[in-house]
Amino acid sequence: MINAQKLKCHARETGIDELRITTAQAFSDARERINEQVDEHLFLNPERWSRTSNRNFCDIHYQRSDARTIITACLCYYTDEPRDGSRPGDPHGMIARYTWRNHYRELRNRLRKLARFLKKEYRAMFRVYSNGPLTEKAAAQRSGIGYYGKHSIIVHPRFGSWIVLGEIITDIEIEPDQALPDDCGTCHLCMDACPTRAIIRPYIIDRRRCIQALANWPGEIPEDIMAVWGKRLYGCSICQDACPVNKTVKPFDRPRTEIGNVGPSLSLLDILRIDDKTYRTAYADNQITAAWINFPAIKRNALICLGHTGGPSALGMVREFTGHDDSIIAAAARWALNRL
Ligand code: SF4
Ligand code: SF4
Repeated sequence: MINAQKLKCHARETGIDELRITTAQAFSDARERINEQVDEHLFLNPERWSRTSNRNFCDIHYQRSDARTIITACLCYYTDEPRDGSRPGDPHGMIARYTWRNHYRELRNRLRKLARFLKKEYRAMFRVYSNGPLTEKAAAQRSGIGYYGKHSIIVHPRFGSWIVLGEIITDIEIEPDQALPDDCGTCHLCMDACPTRAIIRPYIIDRRRCIQALANWPGEIPEDIMAVWGKRLYGCSICQDACPVNKTVKPFDRPRTEIGNVGPSLSLLDILRIDDKTYRTAYADNQITAAWINFPAIKRNALICLGHTGGPSALGMVREFTGHDDSIIAAAARWALNRL
């Protein structure tokens, strides 16, 4: 069995914030948790979570039968850049901090460098993921990158939950690390802060009420959720903002990557003016234009945001959208117009 120290030193040189090791053993607890939540109807797209896809998601052997070890990694993206670029007459909608830039791709690039070292040194097979088809939160927890916060996001003791996760799957055996103890204690600030009460009990999110999940869901948003949506064009991090661990994280002086830089907020009127193709070109290489992103949902979000933040400059545009062909966009526009 290989000792991980050399690999960890190399990871630090490669700019990876933390590297830990776990076995490739299936994540049976995670599988059970997901199945229970599917049975409780807590997913927006339950068809994606069939028993078979969940089994594959929680056991890497269904993708690589020769997998022996999962190397887990994180990259912190926390900076103290201003969060809202709104100007008079040009209201902006906020982008969740994790996707101001494409930190997933940056971490994958750094992990690929490390994997090449692994291959050269040990002739190891490797497969690199970040935000990939593997239960990466469970892998991060078991390997000790962090522990589950009650908002169901991994909390790193130093970087809080301001991290993206990534993995290298390999066929060599490396000495595994231990999980960290849970450290939320009696705190429930994230649960109290959630404006939609989507954290229905510790560690369990009702995604049908979670703004982060709904932001890319192409349906009609219930009125009580639109009423607390605020200026969130894509994503939500209110529960993370409330976390005392996150408040202690020292911001990086400069961004960790410039890949897919879209910044902290986008002009809402611009989003309503452009078409799908222009949107995907303008904000290329970022998750907000990934293949699974539904642009009509983003337009709907822009209208909800304008209902919260748009002044007289937005009225004409919002009114125009009340007659839109897409009934979901039109409904959001009518709601926004009433508010304005
Ligand atoms: S992301 Fe937003 S809506 Fe979802 S659980 Fe956290 S605070 Fe609630
Ligand atoms: S806010 Fe409190 S309960 Fe929630 S993740 Fe942070 S420490 Fe845990």
